[in-house]
Amino acid sequence: MTLRIFHDAGFEAPIGDHIMPIRKFRLVADALRDDPRLEIIAPEPITEEDLRRVHTAEYIRSIRTGEPRALAESQKFPWSAELYPSVCLTNGGVYAAAKMALDRGVSAALASGFHHACEDHGEGFCTFNGLIVALEKLRAEGRIRRAAVLDMDLHYGNGTASLAESRDWIFALSIYGNDYWQNVPHRDVETIRHPAGPNHSEAILANGCRGEEMLAILEKALPRLLHDGRPDLILYQAGADPLREDPYSPLDLGHEDLLERDRRVFAFAKAAGIPIAWVLAGGYTKDTSQVVAVHTNTARAAIETFIDSR
Ligand SMILES: [Zn+2]
Repeated sequence: MTLRIFHDAGFEAPIGDHIMPIRKFRLVADALRDDPRLEIIAPEPITEEDLRRVHTAEYIRSIRTGEPRALAESQKFPWSAELYPSVCLTNGGVYAAAKMALDRGVSAALASGFHHACEDHGEGFCTFNGLIVALEKLRAEGRIRRAAVLDMDLHYGNGTASLAESRDWIFALSIYGNDYWQNVPHRDVETIRHPAGPNHSEAILANGCRGEEMLAILEKALPRLLHDGRPDLILYQAGADPLREDPYSPLDLGHEDLLERDRRVFAFAKAAGIPIAWVLAGGYTKDTSQVVAVHTNTARAAIETFIDSR
């Protein structure tokens, strides 16, 4: 068996010179392309009907038309006519990966999950919340009844938490080291805390957190994904921004620590027999090759866990 993952050149919206290195989607695909243990597949875009299960009509229209401009750029990208098709395609990648995971146990979209995107606006470089859009589409198709989102991006997954609140069939767990409030990241997680709410929970990684502390917190938190019953699918935000070199990261985590994080997450899913699909999430280290290395290591951990061991 090969690992089937999703990427398309159209994932890249033309956002110019931006702190979000959107070219990383292509760089990760290029780094993985020659590995005979995986196949890279182009997904189909999701439709406006798919978006409407999660986002308001006014917000979707703003992304499509650019008006009102403040709403169309609420995610902090410069609006262009190419934005709407690119985010439909990245969300389509998340959906395709989630569906593939149901069929084959594991998959990925080499795109972000967009965990800051809320029902009626975008935030933090996240336009539409591909995680919830994908889960809603699979549920509408009768493929899943319950699902979990494990968010290990550096930042708190505020958009996913807000969308989970009204969906009792989703449980979202955010394990974060940089708080996030009103579209601004805060390095000190002790200054602003996000309490758990209906269908979402959190765990924090304190400033200076090292690998063994992060892994202990992760191991303790993982069983929470099973609390309300076994989910039919786990979506995993495997962020590259917890890396110590990242400008937003107050954590003391290196490549080996994040690789071990990914191994533990995949081992948990495999042991529980729950399909898992991952997405790239954030990563802003100035040397983009460092970001790409974290993401290719996630693929390595998945191959080790699900492909090599067969
Ligand atoms: Zn982030």
